[in-house]
Amino acid sequence: MGSQEVSSVDWQGKHVTVAGLGVSGIPAARALNERGARVTVVNDGDDDRARAQAAELEALGITVRLGDGATLPPSTDLVVTAPGWQPDKPLFLAAAEAGVPVWGDVELAWRLRGSGGRKPAPWLAVTGTNGKTTTVRMLASILEAAGLRTAAVGNIGVSLLDAVLGDQEYDVLAVELSSYQLHWAPSLRAHSAAVLNLAPDHLDWHGSMAAYAADKGRVYEGNTVACVYNAADPATEDLVREADVEEGCRAIGFTLGAPGPSQLGVVDGILVDRAFVANRHKQAQELAEVSDVHPPAPHNIANALAAAALARAFGVEAAAVRDGLRAFRPDAHRIEHIADIGEVAYVDDSKATNTHAAEASLAAYDSVVWIAGGLAKGAAFDALVTGAAKRLRGAVLMGADRALIREALTRHAPEVPVVDLERTDTGAMSEAVAQAAALARPGDTVLLAPACASMDMFTNYNKRGEAFADAVRARADESA
Ligand code: ADP
Repeated sequence: MGSQEVSSVDWQGKHVTVAGLGVSGIPAARALNERGARVTVVNDGDDDRARAQAAELEALGITVRLGDGATLPPSTDLVVTAPGWQPDKPLFLAAAEAGVPVWGDVELAWRLRGSGGRKPAPWLAVTGTNGKTTTVRMLASILEAAGLRTAAVGNIGVSLLDAVLGDQEYDVLAVELSSYQLHWAPSLRAHSAAVLNLAPDHLDWHGSMAAYAADKGRVYEGNTVACVYNAADPATEDLVREADVEEGCRAIGFTLGAPGPSQLGVVDGILVDRAFVANRHKQAQELAEVSDVHPPAPHNIANALAAAALARAFGVEAAAVRDGLRAFRPDAHRIEHIADIGEVAYVDDSKATNTHAAEASLAAYDSVVWIAGGLAKGAAFDALVTGAAKRLRGAVLMGADRALIREALTRHAPEVPVVDLERTDTGAMSEAVAQAAALARPGDTVLLAPACASMDMFTNYNKRGEAFADAVRARADESA
């Protein structure tokens, strides 16, 4: 299949193995089947749900093999995989041995875009360890404010395949990409792309920090207008330097300080652009006020600058950046203000599932009662606690790996009062909120920023955030 445009490939009779039934596998199998490929879906699981899905696909003439995702069907020409499948799976080793290419859902969408005679929309891509969803939504809001037909798609709940094959036509797409998706997207070429930040995450999947960074860095490959990096995170700039981009493509930095030439930054509470202006050595263009960004926490200003940089790379006017940022509201559980009770603010950042996110979140408040804990995924908490120590009024710890955080607090912030909650039942979050309320003083923020995954106690981070918000609202009602 090489690197040729697949929209021009004759799929008739090609043997394609789709790895994984699921949000990306099912639409991929259908799309390829419709184009005349001979599709076999392989799936590890064999439960009732998988059987029902398999029956639907089989009715279309697709072969489904349940309970064995490891063996490569003979005569496979191409494997299309769900992004989360780990690269060292036997299926991929067999494919490598047989010289069979492996594409992820993003690669397939990239190759199929523009099929059916439609003009393919350029992609503005965002990746990074934290802030992807927020930035992509801000970007889509700005592009909409500029009157462009757009959507926030990718690793955000809207499949890229649906976006490129659906009936809706777009001028440009705001695309969130995970490191997994980038790993399996060798020929993706975005118009412009941003890597927001780089901190250790998912290392079990990628094998090493270097491999994780390299996969993130793929987002810059072949960019045509701008590679947007975080001036405060030199690793992101290194990735730009290593990328092979189109002639004339520029490196554009964003910073929370005053911007240099070819950067966006902040001057006296104003977001300014010194990159996409006529004379960047002398001029800067005002884009928006810091107060136009919701919430105006430092890391979120950084997200807004990255979104603005991508929009400006696409030629969007300054006024649309301001209007788009003003119209943007963050998704739930991302620094979400739930209530003020007796001069104490209660904020849900359940989405802070790793230490890098929690660090940004804690830095946004002066005096915090911190609710944390859950599954640590191998993380160390020393740097996080050292950095946050002077802001901590107290900490309430819960979940499987809470001892790791408690030990870090003992080492680096021994004066901070800590409540260690053993219980894991459904009432645990109410008690955590009650304990936090008891520690808080007027002017403080009670912040749920767990720095850990939620699955030891909750179905997912949404449920954890909802439990927190419910507990806070119940207290607010009582005190009203
Ligand atoms: P992602 O899609 O990358 O998971 P989100 O936008 O959903 O990112 O934000 C996840 C969490 O990461 C937020 O709840 C917040 O705690 C933290 N966060 C958001 N933006 C940043 C940033 N630029 N730097 C560090 N942490 C961030």
